[in-house]
Amino acid sequence: MGSRSIIEPFRIKSVEPIRMTTHDERKRFLEQAGYNPFLLRAEHVLIDLLTDSGTGAMSAEQWASIMRGDESYAGARSYYRLLDVVADIFGFRYVLPTHQGRAAERILFSSTCKPGDVVPNNTHFDTTRAHIEHVGARAVDLPIPEGRRPADIHPFKGNMDLDALDALIGEVGADRIPLVMLTVTNNSGGGQPVSMANVRGVRAICDRYRIALYIDACRFAENCWFIREREEGYAQTSPREIARELFSYADGCTMSAKKDGLVNIGGFLACNDEALAKQESRLLILTEGFPTYGGLAGRDLEAMATGLEEVLHEDYLHYRIASTAYLGRHLTEIGVPIVQPPGGHAIYIDAAAMLPHIPARMFPGQALVAELYLEGGIRAVEVGTVMFGSTDPQTGEETTAAMELVRLAIPRRVYTQSHIDYVHEVMGDVFARRERIAGLRMTWQSPPLRHFTARFEPL
Ligand SMILES: *Cc1c(COP(=O)(O)O)cnc(C)c1O
Repeated sequence: MGSRSIIEPFRIKSVEPIRMTTHDERKRFLEQAGYNPFLLRAEHVLIDLLTDSGTGAMSAEQWASIMRGDESYAGARSYYRLLDVVADIFGFRYVLPTHQGRAAERILFSSTCKPGDVVPNNTHFDTTRAHIEHVGARAVDLPIPEGRRPADIHPFKGNMDLDALDALIGEVGADRIPLVMLTVTNNSGGGQPVSMANVRGVRAICDRYRIALYIDACRFAENCWFIREREEGYAQTSPREIARELFSYADGCTMSAKKDGLVNIGGFLACNDEALAKQESRLLILTEGFPTYGGLAGRDLEAMATGLEEVLHEDYLHYRIASTAYLGRHLTEIGVPIVQPPGGHAIYIDAAAMLPHIPARMFPGQALVAELYLEGGIRAVEVGTVMFGSTDPQTGEETTAAMELVRLAIPRRVYTQSHIDYVHEVMGDVFARRERIAGLRMTWQSPPLRHFTARFEPL
């Protein structure tokens, strides 16, 4: 049994064709897109690993939920179903539906933070950081040291550095820290999990200083599976019970249901504080909608409630984490350097280690992304100097990122093992000719978030 393949725990009843293009076509499409995969047409991509956000496949039961959705403006049945599911899994009393995660972030941070405040996190996701900075507060990343070193192996590389948290609170004062946040799994840190012991440790520090703890819950189910597999004492605990314990330590959460909600759009903000929930509802009404639908249709609420139930199924999580590890293992076998160990939702290739002849200012990650598309129609994304660097407008000098990574994000329930085999075969062919891959020159950019629209030329 143990050595058998871990199969996709579903069969396929509706298919969407994908089309192979020729090398000449891809060369033309890539030139037209200025060597930026965000500017490609999706229909020109064969295997799309740009993101795992909102790109998953819904189940037959979720499509049935779409038909059951109650489209009443106020007090819809679908809202109360979502409320019940969130209360049962996350244990929070107040739930504000939002159209996606960043809307929940905007409402949370504009209700709790003022200029000069500080918000610590294991690692802020880019929209989280942007919303904190937007209200004049400071976002501080406090990952454990192993979290910043791609090749280091650690079972919970997403953990927060507890000593650093304690020191930061001592330095700025608890009254300037409205909340501490933990991102599970740590997306920007490679999809790495946070241990239950670490959550308890953060909670103890928050208790000592009477600071609220919020969880960025986007990939909570994947994190719970890692706890079950890797943390002492959880091997026999169901993912649902692990989730209940994890959220019992928190005062609230933000959620992008485009990840572990298994839907294409949706999110929510939840907490137990009645006064805060009331204040947040007023903002919700202003920009998202009436509190029982947020920015969503009744059918979206219903599909999200069903998705939150399904994402905790053991067969699903077993397959999900094993299939990401499968890609990581095959890439490692052919010598491709990746962030170790593989995370939950994506594999991150260390482009600086793979292409040491391309300096950061010539964008090794972006060059690798272009080659993956040219070689096999695969779309990935650079997470390096294009995304986090900047160009000095006076000198043209490039400020480079700490790491030059390429992310292969795996959409949920979309691709089969043969698609993934194709990905590592293409990667193998690119890897074999890595010494002949040249860097790129950025010909146009528009900061901030320049990576979405920048254009390049090969050197
Ligand atoms: C995607 C994501 C968000 C933002 O959610 P959106 O639905 O894209 O607005 C916040 N935090 C993390 C960790 C995410 O991965």
